[in-house]
Amino acid sequence: MAPRINRCSFCGRSDKEVNLLISGVNGFICDECAQQAYELAVENKRKKERVDLSKLPKPAEIKDYLDKYVIGQDDAKKTLSVAVYNHYKRLQHPEAEDDVELEKSNIIMVGSTGTGKTLLARTIAKLLVVPFTIVDATVLTEAGYVGEDVESLLARLLQAADYDVAKAETGIVFIDEIDKIARKGDNPSITRDVSGEGVQQGLLKLLEGSIVNVPPQGGRKHPEQKFIQVNTKNILFICGGAFDGIEKRIAQRLNTHVVGFDAARNVAKIDKSNMMQYIAPMDLKSFGLIPEIIGRLPILTHLEPLDRTALRRILTEPKNSIIKQYIRLFALDGVELIFEEAVFEYVVDKAVEFKLGARGLRSLVETIMVDPMYEIPSKHVDKYTVTLEYAKQQVEKANMFVLKEQTEDK
Ligand code: ADP
Repeated sequence: MAPRINRCSFCGRSDKEVNLLISGVNGFICDECAQQAYELAVENKRKKERVDLSKLPKPAEIKDYLDKYVIGQDDAKKTLSVAVYNHYKRLQHPEAEDDVELEKSNIIMVGSTGTGKTLLARTIAKLLVVPFTIVDATVLTEAGYVGEDVESLLARLLQAADYDVAKAETGIVFIDEIDKIARKGDNPSITRDVSGEGVQQGLLKLLEGSIVNVPPQGGRKHPEQKFIQVNTKNILFICGGAFDGIEKRIAQRLNTHVVGFDAARNVAKIDKSNMMQYIAPMDLKSFGLIPEIIGRLPILTHLEPLDRTALRRILTEPKNSIIKQYIRLFALDGVELIFEEAVFEYVVDKAVEFKLGARGLRSLVETIMVDPMYEIPSKHVDKYTVTLEYAKQQVEKANMFVLKEQTEDK
């Protein structure tokens, strides 16, 4: 009797024709069929994971979530919550039967550096069930120049979507530092404005909603790569920028003046926060964004400068505040970490004094904690208190200039 030949129950090939034949209760499967089956299973799981809109958080719930991590900035939070919610609703009803096409509304957030723009974007990302990516506009240059093409931004979104194009096409892209691609003044220049208006033109194409050829690895350095076509119609773009000095333009527009050097120092602070809230699209235009781009970012929101009270809250209140992080780090070593209340006030004072903003809080606390972090684990104590006296001593020992630079680098 001829020996029995085992065959794959799916493709029928014999064990001689395949690398591996796995036996089951009633049959066999070869390695290639198993691989295919695996891919189908993954794809199926992905489909199931696609936005389950019945579980979608409402705008107020999104804002509640943001409140846990970001202090203040109510305006920006509300705007973002509504925009994200609407984005999902649009995805849920791609073709409205009554011919009312729900258009997406891209967003632009304006606020000084370190006021929480990126934090807001990152926090939203944690909550989202669509692919999300953050890109820095400063790396983008006009096609053909050193740097990245605007299409690379979609390559990152594709990556975030595990190269599932349909999924990427419903994603959200956060473009940071959009102000850095503003037109550099009206002066004609001999050198081309490769990272300014050219990039804006490129971005416009994406914001408008079009089919874009995306090099999968994000670069044009590999001409042999096949392009992936991505339709940007349903991708939500959120842009953020500090727009340094825009308050002056707003003030000019509103025809208000801050007179005198000393007056400016005192008044500017209040005025600054007052000014930002009057921001209008025309201020962005005078800053150097082209009107077409502004038209494609119809929702304009602003972030408030952080005052002393906000800084004090940032230190301890957010769910993962810097102080909570240190307490947790010590707890992992079995040490209860305690801060004297006055330490917090002192840190905030220093951050304000040296104009370090929210980023400075971290540098200051790190400066205070570097020695205890080094020493405590080998000391076998179960409690450690950071006193005001100790905090002062550590900060005074540190070079404030270095601290300032560290803060600015971040
Ligand atoms: P931006 O993008 O506006 O320049 P970031 O969002 O990167 O600023 O903020 C820098 C850091 O400062 C954040 O990581 C966070 O720790 C802190 N921070 C800034 N603003 C806030 C805020 N409103 N609430 C809580 N933390 C904040």
